[in-house]
Amino acid sequence: MLRRSFLLGVSGLTLPLPALAQAAQFPLGVASGCPRPTSVVLWTRVAAPGPVAWEIAEDERLQRVVARGTALAEPRWAHSIHVDVEGLRPGRPYWYRFILGGAASPVGRTRTAPDPATATGLRFVIASCQQYEQGYFAAWRHAAAEELDAVLFVGDYIYEASWGRNLVRHHAGGRCTLLDDYRERYAQYKSDPDLQAAHAAHPWIVTWDDHEVTDDYTGDIGPEDPDPVRFLAQRAAAYQAYWEHMPLPNALRPGGPSLRLYGRYRFGTLAELFTLDDRQYRAHHACRATLKRGKPLENCAERLDPGRTMLGAEQEAWFADGMRRASARWNVLAQQTLMAEADRGPGERHIYWADGWDGYPVARQRLLDTVAASPVKDTLVLGGDVHSFWATDLKRDFAELKTPTVATEFVGGSITAQGPPANRVAGLIAKNPHIRAGLSEVNGYGVVALDGKKAEVSFRTLADVRDPRSSIATARRFVVEAGRPGAVPA
Ligand code: FE
Ligand code: CA
Repeated sequence: MLRRSFLLGVSGLTLPLPALAQAAQFPLGVASGCPRPTSVVLWTRVAAPGPVAWEIAEDERLQRVVARGTALAEPRWAHSIHVDVEGLRPGRPYWYRFILGGAASPVGRTRTAPDPATATGLRFVIASCQQYEQGYFAAWRHAAAEELDAVLFVGDYIYEASWGRNLVRHHAGGRCTLLDDYRERYAQYKSDPDLQAAHAAHPWIVTWDDHEVTDDYTGDIGPEDPDPVRFLAQRAAAYQAYWEHMPLPNALRPGGPSLRLYGRYRFGTLAELFTLDDRQYRAHHACRATLKRGKPLENCAERLDPGRTMLGAEQEAWFADGMRRASARWNVLAQQTLMAEADRGPGERHIYWADGWDGYPVARQRLLDTVAASPVKDTLVLGGDVHSFWATDLKRDFAELKTPTVATEFVGGSITAQGPPANRVAGLIAKNPHIRAGLSEVNGYGVVALDGKKAEVSFRTLADVRDPRSSIATARRFVVEAGRPGAVPA
């Protein structure tokens, strides 16, 4: 009976399918991503090889199906399914599901990007750093309930190793180095119902940071493995597992240690979104022969070498070209980490974190020069990585407060990962006047709402990251007026 219903379901009629086998067939939920005006990517991962049917509809009961098909779950890609759906209508929600062995997946909702010629308001979540052991994913349950165009996730989707204090749950394995280690880690994270809810509620636009491979890796080497041949084999495994578990298009399926993740999205006349990859192509840490693991840099001349790159020459040229031709109201850069200079030196000393943009100040200068040269004068930079919330004014010269602010930066906290103590945040604000606000020892995400006149950014923080049912509240709000870069508390 079930078998026949299933066959009828995919051949024309949409019949209700039992949810009984749902958890077994679709243990990691469903997801969508890469929203364009007429296309999205649908994702799931199933338990066994074979054909998986999918359908996408204009209504949440899936009665007005506009496209359906079948995709093959293959062991070599961990039975992950990536469907590139084309021919959709812009700026509207769609609902989708997968069907396998008489069971239907949960219904996911997605949304296409607006028509390129329209100026509808936009809302995004900016999020990062979901260390599974350090807290529950209550933030994702709240993000699922937000009204959004997309979730922007800027890295540390998994953590390759255990760390932190007062853990509430534990990784199933040890440090990830092999393909199966990474696959198991993604599967464990994605078994979380709140994370599944956030994926099922919104399309995600993703980029990665270091923990998807290993902490503080730089291009072709990592701190645990400075041998590029060995490290690139690990990177290939990590990148493959990343692709397998993200709503990324088939065209990005990796065939080795490289994956061109950076990209550009258009949201009507209001925003052009650039997602950057500052890990895959970056130069090694400055002064790494003498740099102590986890310690900042002081008196390191190599830091200022103009040959040091964060994005790599190709991505840098691609970014410059995109910024030159930008034509929306806002440029939005979604990237990994805090971009503003954050001098930690007490008194007259200057001390910088080697792994962030402060380790690559000339590359940052080039990027901000490119931003300043864009015909679009309103640029927001959104980031993650530092496990705290920040609002900063990005300057062409951070040493001169009077120089113009070329972009406004917001870092959207961390979903769970533990951050710096509040006194370090206070010290950074005191030493770096272009840093307008900082908030630590709390977890959550940022909400960015854009229209033609302003950007409104809210820092949403959990009451208790150790409580899976925690409430969330807006801790800080900022406004950036179009034509007047800089974060103003609202
Ligand atoms: Fe992190
Ligand atoms: Ca790191």
